[in-house]
Amino acid sequence: MHTKDVIVKENTTPHHAGPEEIVRKKELYLIPCVYHFYKRPVQIVRGEMQYLYDHVGRRYLDFYAGVSVVNAGHCNTEITEKVIRQLRTLQHTTSIYLTQPVVDLAERLSGITPAPLQKTFFCASGSEANEGAVLLAQLFTKRSALLALSTGLHGHTKHALSFTGLPFWRIDPSPIDGVTFVPAPYCYRCPLGRVYPSCDLECAREVGKAIAKGTSEFAAFIAEPVQGNGGIIVPPKEYFPRLKEILDRYGILLIVDEAQTGFGRTGKMFAIEHWGVEPDIMSLAKALANGIPIGAFITRADLASALSLPYASTWGGNPVAATSALATLDYMEKHALAERAQRMGLYLKTGLTELSHRHNMIGDVRGLGLMVGVELVKQDKIPAQDETTFVLEYLKDRGVLAGRAGLQRNVLALQPPLVITRDDIDEMLDHLGGALQEAESGR
Ligand code: PMP
Repeated sequence: MHTKDVIVKENTTPHHAGPEEIVRKKELYLIPCVYHFYKRPVQIVRGEMQYLYDHVGRRYLDFYAGVSVVNAGHCNTEITEKVIRQLRTLQHTTSIYLTQPVVDLAERLSGITPAPLQKTFFCASGSEANEGAVLLAQLFTKRSALLALSTGLHGHTKHALSFTGLPFWRIDPSPIDGVTFVPAPYCYRCPLGRVYPSCDLECAREVGKAIAKGTSEFAAFIAEPVQGNGGIIVPPKEYFPRLKEILDRYGILLIVDEAQTGFGRTGKMFAIEHWGVEPDIMSLAKALANGIPIGAFITRADLASALSLPYASTWGGNPVAATSALATLDYMEKHALAERAQRMGLYLKTGLTELSHRHNMIGDVRGLGLMVGVELVKQDKIPAQDETTFVLEYLKDRGVLAGRAGLQRNVLALQPPLVITRDDIDEMLDHLGGALQEAESGR
């Protein structure tokens, strides 16, 4: 028998194979870059709003939401019912035919994004969205170079990897030229050694300096409004306004990558709204369809006309993804999830700040809404990497799943579904306190 036949047979066995079997198959059949968390990993088989369940039915409180994806909760029936109806009616065509969900969604996005943004291109992922956003900027400005943040992450495709600065994810040995990285507005560990606000935003002034050097003709600056994988880095409030002013002076476009920050996560529909800045292009993905693959970028009408030659994504505007996005937006608005993120985020940060008074290992608590980072440190702010590994494992063993971010991978990333309750937050804080106590006592 051909080995492939054996594999097909194996795949028909009951699906709760258990973690060991899944790890075995992963090692055999997945390319090793697809890594997983935990020394004792869990097999997730079911999700329900803010909870996940493993193969033996154990409940986990999800504090990562699949990296800021399921903002409206896992398998939210108000959304999935509409998606299932669409699946049964029309699953896929392509953009060469007319379908309604895609135009309805584009109209909706135009209504909820900052005012000048009007026209959208749909694709299937955040990486693609950023690729397209950059292409549009290059076509419009007729320039090619880019500015990006040294701790930014924008995806896994060739070009997106090239304008990803975060070393952990910047694995391409031959990135595309023409990207200038500027220091991140990371006040807890200022890369310029300055202190806010006496620094007068030297990080923003560095952008002006890079441009004034005149060695590159920049098309755009791409940045996450709050850097996710970089360590939940929230810039000072003056950063983006100051940045936009500088970019406008030189006709350089601002692309904000809202893949992780979008759709209520930070307490506003989009994070850039916290600073009243209107970007030229906005990339969207992840939470837009609450778990169905989607990507998009939206721009001003005048800019959009620069992208008029054929450019297409097979999945762009897929009726199931577009329906899921529309249903997600309905749910978000009906249940005021952005406001909820704001409220719950405040509650979470207050609890974390209280914990920080009892635990020296908490070096910094930062974030907006329900995008919160807890930077774990040893004496003199030395990144507590092993302790972060310990804390994540401890939390998981007590039924809480959290994420991990940061230059040194020592930041707990707390980005739960926005439907989370105060009781859930209390439960997490309780276990985090226990984890820190053990970590600090060196157990
Ligand atoms: N931008 C940001 C800010 C992200 O966090 C990610 C993924 N983590 C991406 C882009 C890439 O998105 P995707 O994985 O959908 O390609």
